[in-house]
Amino acid sequence: MIYQAFVINRFSVTNISRFVTLSFCIVVGFICDVHAQSGAVLTPESTELYVDLTKINPGLTAQMPPSDATVLFDGTDLVKWQAMQLRIAGDMPGIMNSIADYEPGKMTQSAQWEVADGIMTVEPGTGAIETKRPFGDMQLHLEWNAPVAEEKSGQEYSNSGVFFMGLYEVQILNSYENMTYSNGQASSVYKQHIPLVNASRAPGQWQSYDIIFMAPRFSEKGSLTAPARITVFHNGVLVQNNVELLGPTTYIGASHYTPHPSKMPLALQDHGDPVQFRNIWIREL
Ligand code: MG
Repeated sequence: MIYQAFVINRFSVTNISRFVTLSFCIVVGFICDVHAQSGAVLTPESTELYVDLTKINPGLTAQMPPSDATVLFDGTDLVKWQAMQLRIAGDMPGIMNSIADYEPGKMTQSAQWEVADGIMTVEPGTGAIETKRPFGDMQLHLEWNAPVAEEKSGQEYSNSGVFFMGLYEVQILNSYENMTYSNGQASSVYKQHIPLVNASRAPGQWQSYDIIFMAPRFSEKGSLTAPARITVFHNGVLVQNNVELLGPTTYIGASHYTPHPSKMPLALQDHGDPVQFRNIWIREL
């Protein structure tokens, strides 16, 4: 009896197995038939796309402007720059008043910074400068040099900054063996995002920023629909990874957004130090 039961069970298991296998084949066959009838036979080529991409010349090095870039400073003059309209680096009420006074396209005084030997240098006391043209989303390449000033320290040691839309600062500062608050050191999004690492070179050496800036979006009624975002490479090292900005840069107090035009000038800060710049170009995104 025991032997018989074993045979019956074994027979049942075999039948079930055959049934499952047969069912599987029927389903697969049906699917293949449907694909064949619709002409959607899967091949490697069926997921390969061909698009007529715009061709650009990227330049011989990563520092050189690609053929589709807008060169903002090539070492010859400041013809694309002027004195800055907005009053930067203040508290939130000051920024809001400044934005209210901003006039798109307004011509101001010519930029007073020094240009010599292919380099522009902050002329302390003459004020920040901005591009005459407004910009929104962009890829920026910029090289800067924080000069040696051993008598200085902290935020006073070769401070400048690049302000996207004149409002959102990525800090420029000597942060090589120079202690300051982390959310105010070189490549920080000032007082909002600490860099992932300190990739600073010693003062007196040229350094690079490659930055992707995405402008904030506002509805027609002025409410924020998407915050600004920034990705920063400092000397080729990722230090800000698509971080979300809280609002315009403030020196005092918390920030929040206030509506502004979709394109505004790119600005460079005069913080009283003779910081140098060269090779500045952008690609509008
Ligand atoms: Mg600064």
